[in-house]
Amino acid sequence: MKIYGPVPSWRLGNSLGIDLVDAPMGCSKLCSFDCLYCQLGHKGIKTGRPLHYRDREDEFDLLEQKIDLSKPDYITFSGQGEPTLNLNLGEVADRIKEMTDIPLAILTNGSFLDRADVRRGLDRCDLVIAKLDTADEACFQRINQPYSGMKIHSIIRKMMKLRTDVAIQTLLFSYGRITNADKNAVDKLISAYRKINENKPIRIFLGTAYRPTDLMQVRGISDLTIEKIADRINNETGIEVIYYKINRPKPVAQEINAKELKKEVLKLIERRPCTMEDINTRFQNPGIPELLHELVEKGCAAKKRKEDRVFYTKRDDKKC
Ligand code: SF4
Repeated sequence: MKIYGPVPSWRLGNSLGIDLVDAPMGCSKLCSFDCLYCQLGHKGIKTGRPLHYRDREDEFDLLEQKIDLSKPDYITFSGQGEPTLNLNLGEVADRIKEMTDIPLAILTNGSFLDRADVRRGLDRCDLVIAKLDTADEACFQRINQPYSGMKIHSIIRKMMKLRTDVAIQTLLFSYGRITNADKNAVDKLISAYRKINENKPIRIFLGTAYRPTDLMQVRGISDLTIEKIADRINNETGIEVIYYKINRPKPVAQEINAKELKKEVLKLIERRPCTMEDINTRFQNPGIPELLHELVEKGCAAKKRKEDRVFYTKRDDKKC
């Protein structure tokens, strides 16, 4: 278990991240999917086998300190891969619930929803944010590139079995000629949202690929298009749609020394590419520009441009 952040999230405000599946050294992620737009890149390990991972007591102590210090809006299971690959999810959730009343969220791609043990773990969280980028089987295979045998229709059916609060997260984008944002794709998504909502009331988080990935042809959609699609979904289904917009979560003030700052910044950009503004919002430290410059100079971090923004990512090939 690794703790990082809090990170500014457009869905959850300031979110303290818990990574339950550390990717092995030299790999960018451990996941059951390999989504085209994945911000963790495409040098990961794809697996369809959840396992029990042991968590150390000192990690829980550190988590408690972090919660006291940063007072996040949410504690979120996310990170370098699919958190339900760790079958200890439910136990970790229970331990956190003993420490704090701060709500617990999890970002999942839903691959293991057919397993009762995984659903039990998810139901210990307050909010499950489940990925649904397309309701079309062929498109699912192309966009999300799941582990062999996984089918989107089976994932959709199992989403209805979750007992906790559920938000469906869809990321709209294009990759060459592939897109999940045209009329036909959105029609299919709308009918899937409606079906899920009839059985299990949901909210929808609509995002786009605004962070860089190693596939240069991945493109986000414009704010105007996302707004129009969000309105259409809401008008046709009555479901609340919260869509990506650049919001400013409240900054997290925290006393931190230079060594800790470097460690925390590296942990953050290892899990998600961040702009300087994201990092400033998170740490509120005047030393950030100099630190980022130093990390790039030493080869620990790389700068990636996406449209008009510059993001910082950690380089996997370098131990810093
Ligand atoms: S499910 Fe998440 S971590 Fe896994 S490949 Fe897709 S975007 Fe990346």
